[in-house]
Amino acid sequence: MMHWSMSRQSSWVQLAGHQGNFQVSKGGEVLKLYSEVEANCLDCLMRDPLRPFVPQYHGLVTRGELCYIRLEDLLSGLKRPVIMDCKMGVRTYQEDELVKARVKAPLRSDMYQKMVKMDPSAPSAEEHAQRGVTKWRYLQWRDSISSTSTLGFRIEGIMVGVKAREGTALFMFIKTIRLIKYLFLSLKMRNNSNLNDALKNSPFFRTHEVIGSSLLFVHDHSKASVWMIDFGKTTPLPDSQELRHNVPWSEGSREDGYLIGLSSLVASLAQAISV
Ligand code: ATP
Ligand code: MG
Ligand code: MG
Repeated sequence: MMHWSMSRQSSWVQLAGHQGNFQVSKGGEVLKLYSEVEANCLDCLMRDPLRPFVPQYHGLVTRGELCYIRLEDLLSGLKRPVIMDCKMGVRTYQEDELVKARVKAPLRSDMYQKMVKMDPSAPSAEEHAQRGVTKWRYLQWRDSISSTSTLGFRIEGIMVGVKAREGTALFMFIKTIRLIKYLFLSLKMRNNSNLNDALKNSPFFRTHEVIGSSLLFVHDHSKASVWMIDFGKTTPLPDSQELRHNVPWSEGSREDGYLIGLSSLVASLAQAISV
């Protein structure tokens, strides 16, 4: 489900994910609940050509009983930033999740409820009668109803730094055009390097299946940037296997379609500013 938010007082804004996973910290950092998978990725990324596109990783910290990953706060110092979270790739579940869901396939009433809430006609007659769906069915359905399966990305959330009293139609329109231009420019060029080139030169990218990860676009009046975030489901491939990231997924290939998403995102933005 996509989230739209208006500007908040505090500089910290979270567009997706569970609220409890994050804590604001002092000194331009945010804390994200520890996951071994994500910490391993960030370790690798700090030594990879993708480093300029990833928030700085400062290791771990314990707060109370819980362990957190210390990350650079990408909103630090920005005045009324505009933010967009785009989840990349042609699927947002790992192959392992499908395998597990198929082997042990109990009917999930919680997933059935979520499905009905979004679209009462989505479950089949049988699923309605059972008042449950398998996790496998739910995961695939969730990607199929968004642009994930077709375009290789979906917008998880947008925050526009506009106050309600300024929210006239014309003002919002100009703001939106400017946002799209910024998004486009930030994808094309950043810190003298281009995300597409960095991905192509990255050993990390070649050797990892990148699932559920986002591009976070951030801009305020002075600058625009794009960042790679959320590596909780990004896993290394076995042996010396490599992925192309620009071909459709077939089960077993582990392809994620990340580059399919990146090119359709660039194409959508280019189209939006050329008309
Ligand atoms: P999910 O897996 O459901 O997408 P998650 O719990 O793994 O969520 P993230 O996707 O990493 O969380 O982050 C959620 C949101 O928090 C992002 O959309 C973004 O708005 C914000 N966020 C994450 N990391 C940072 C950061 N380093 N600086 C600023 N904002 C951040
Ligand atoms: Mg996320
Ligand atoms: Mg995540």
